[in-house]
Amino acid sequence: MKFIVDGMLGKLTRWLRMLGHNVKYSNKLDDAKLITIAKKERRILLTRDLELYQQAIAKGLDAFYLEGTTEAERLAFLARRFKIELEINMEKSRCPKCNTRVKPIPKEKVINKIEKNTFSNYNEFWECPKCEKIYWQGAHWARIRNTLDTAKKT
Ligand SMILES: [Zn+2]
Repeated sequence: MKFIVDGMLGKLTRWLRMLGHNVKYSNKLDDAKLITIAKKERRILLTRDLELYQQAIAKGLDAFYLEGTTEAERLAFLARRFKIELEINMEKSRCPKCNTRVKPIPKEKVINKIEKNTFSNYNEFWECPKCEKIYWQGAHWARIRNTLDTAKKT
């Protein structure tokens, strides 16, 4: 799905990108810009700003006023509203930093790009073709799964 989010939802942006969604985010866009882009690019507007939400709805846009305080709660609301699957599939996953689809990269090619320990502990790696960041399902992965599991139960 294609979203645009307001400047308060940077964390959620990263989650949605990891889950494979195309999310536009910048904390430099004002309300008018957010609405224009949402309309032009047919993006669903996610916001924590009630006034912006009401403006968007009045203009006929698809918008969602996001409640919840934790990432798990917010993901749960989104999953329910847009039938988003709370599973990360690396084939669809996007770079949390820049929204580009990540691609698998052979282990031998990341040897100079990551720490030695990481290299010896993991075998599967992905690279963002745009910002060249390398990803792997490391120790932080347990926390990611945990948040998604919590969201599923919320
Ligand atoms: Zn990237």
